[in-house]
Amino acid sequence: MISRGLEGDRVDSATCEADFMKHECGVFGVFGHPEAAKITYLGLYALQHRGQESAGIISCHEGRLHGHREMGLVYDVFKKDVLDNLAGDMAIGHVRYSTTGSSLLKNAQPLLVDYARGALAIAHNGNLINARVLRSDLESRGSIFQSTSDSEVIVHLIARSKKEKIESTLIDALRQVKGAYSLLVMDNENLLAVRDPCGFRPLCVGMLKGAFIVASESCAFDIVDAKYIRELEPGELLLINRSGMHSLQTGSAKAAGNGVCIFELIYFARPDSHVFGRDVDRVRHNLGAILHGEAPVEADLVIPVPDSSNAAALGYSHESGIPFEMGLIRNHYIGRTFIEPSQTIRDFGAKIKYNPVKTALKGKRVVVVDDSIVRGTTSRKIVKMIRNAGAREIHMRISSPPIAYPCFYGIDTPTRKELIASTHTLEEIRKYLRVDTLHYLSQEGLVRSAGGNPDEFCLACFSGKYPISLAVDFDKFYHDRKQSATTLKV
Ligand code: SF4
Repeated sequence: MISRGLEGDRVDSATCEADFMKHECGVFGVFGHPEAAKITYLGLYALQHRGQESAGIISCHEGRLHGHREMGLVYDVFKKDVLDNLAGDMAIGHVRYSTTGSSLLKNAQPLLVDYARGALAIAHNGNLINARVLRSDLESRGSIFQSTSDSEVIVHLIARSKKEKIESTLIDALRQVKGAYSLLVMDNENLLAVRDPCGFRPLCVGMLKGAFIVASESCAFDIVDAKYIRELEPGELLLINRSGMHSLQTGSAKAAGNGVCIFELIYFARPDSHVFGRDVDRVRHNLGAILHGEAPVEADLVIPVPDSSNAAALGYSHESGIPFEMGLIRNHYIGRTFIEPSQTIRDFGAKIKYNPVKTALKGKRVVVVDDSIVRGTTSRKIVKMIRNAGAREIHMRISSPPIAYPCFYGIDTPTRKELIASTHTLEEIRKYLRVDTLHYLSQEGLVRSAGGNPDEFCLACFSGKYPISLAVDFDKFYHDRKQSATTLKV
């Protein structure tokens, strides 16, 4: 099997707090549209919030797969000449934030490989928790990996399958992996979309003038005027080709569907999306309303930590009757990669990103609504800013329960000891943030806001109860370290 380099070239066939709890990835696919790559570009543009480190598109033209991927934002990676070269009526695309493997071009997706049965492209959102074990086993049997991303394991498992049809080889591969995946796979005839049996990450299908569209979130349909059809069920595989769309099951048993990531509803998904059968904006509004029910307070203003907490703050305001104001202004023009490199610059992060509106805050008793607290450092800086702007009282309301456990299913959280809620009591956190009162939404209130039952959701970052047992020692940089060690030896 040969991985094809697409590094910056066309290759033909042959920080609110949650900003430090990283986004994951977004996928988008098109089958049967004459401008498939351009539609994919627009779809990725709408999914940019799911990953800002790299972007890529692979299209299929006259039976050959070709593509382009680069580090950077969709807008910067795909200029007109690049898109004009991506002909074909089938394409898949990916925006990435690295959740396994370093932020390197070799890990950018979609991956494109040539193997015994032809060319294959793959775009993955999620994390495989047994990738390390599978990779070691594959390497011991002669497989050579080009990237350090867990997604490449799936490619090797497909290549080794003895089955004939592409859908059967994919099912064969997926029965060996554990973890979270919303996945697009494309060969020169078929587009396949699949969601893992727990249903961690969203994936939905729509139509555009007879073409099939698949996307992480429905907001990507709106930008191209595609009609939303439905979400893929947990454990469902959609095979799309010239004969239409066929639904298959990846497992022999009924999919559990017990891993729907509730953080998609709290923070990750765009508020104008419909994911997991819910309007995200409405859920966030409910979070704020229920948060007020749990922790009312006398105050003059409700302000969000923009933008991800806007809807929850509106919910709190409507329920309480306390006026809503934009007391913090967010600068939208900060390059994520600029903030990343050094701790010194990151310490400035909150100030670079937010500025308080002094006239709105001076002398006021303020309810500050934020979606989460991870380490607590950014929240503390935001509180200081609001205090310095003249606020008389600050009441912090968090529209999620305390995050006390890391995520292993595609969200890059810090280790347990870095999570403030795993090492501090509520009162200690309140004192550290220097707020007058602090309340986190309860788990029961969270599930009620989403209108579901607790068995449906993954709540592991709050409860420590992981839907899939972490029998393997998960380490997202394991493969990077292994490769550099090998290089040093040579
Ligand atoms: S651990 Fe938290 S962030 Fe990760 S999948 Fe579960 S709910 Fe989502």
